Amino acid sequence: MMMYERVLLFLCLVASCFSSPVQSTADDNVLARAEKAYQGIEWKPAFDECGSSRFNTLVEATRMAIQLTKPRRHPESTPGWNRFFLSDKHIKKREGWVAQAGGSHLAKVSKIMESVHQYPSKAKQGKDKFKIAYRCRDTLAICKSVPGAAAVTAQPSRGQSEKWEVYLCDRFWGTGHLKDKRHKNSPQDLETLRSFEHVIVHELLHCDVVTGSNPKIIDKKAVLPSWPTEVDVYGASRCSEYAWLYADKQKANFMVKENADNYAWFYTNNWFNDEWKWHDDGERR
Ligand SMILES: [Zn+2]
Repeated sequence: MMMYERVLLFLCLVASCFSSPVQSTADDNVLARAEKAYQGIEWKPAFDECGSSRFNTLVEATRMAIQLTKPRRHPESTPGWNRFFLSDKHIKKREGWVAQAGGSHLAKVSKIMESVHQYPSKAKQGKDKFKIAYRCRDTLAICKSVPGAAAVTAQPSRGQSEKWEVYLCDRFWGTGHLKDKRHKNSPQDLETLRSFEHVIVHELLHCDVVTGSNPKIIDKKAVLPSWPTEVDVYGASRCSEYAWLYADKQKANFMVKENADNYAWFYTNNWFNDEWKWHDDGERR
């Protein structure tokens, strides 16, 4: 009995001498580093709510989301563009992304893509009130309100000083990092390649502190050829169908520039095309 208590006491001492203080200093360092490196994010709520392992995952996913969204000189010439926005080669002359109205549709999309890439490193005008918080607490009710969601972004109420918040649902934690995805041979498997980074980019796009409000990036609903009733345009297959909705009439569906998941899949498609040398052309077959 005595022995047991002594062992227990020793274990407690080990825990308090070595584990807790050292661990908490290490955690504080991680928080300080995240706050310095990614100033567009309000890190304290995630630090307090998510636990240290998930907090670290969020920091790494934010770092990689910046890589995922690295701007390309000609986004409109990538396979991801063809699949999730539709290449001008399929569109009537002077009616495409580049040619139509002096390229204003393409210019808008490019601007949004640039903002989402830059935002995590630097909040708007460096101001605290524009920072976005990741949340792990009280996610149940809000996640339930959007069945199947990996994360839900909440808009601050008008006139209040609350910030944009991204609630991370159970499904989010099951997606995994881009870099940990098992090799796939072709874009046919895109649907299985949703990652932490993909979800974070999708959610950041909803925040108008990131992308502005013209257009507002939302989750569109539409009637698509594959389903008789209106659906959420969500997932690789539906997003691609949405982009190609009028392809047989040689027209673009410019509405895709308002749908968050089309952007996220554009990035994921191009990322794995480069990573795994798919030689993808973005065509729907
Ligand atoms: Zn969304």
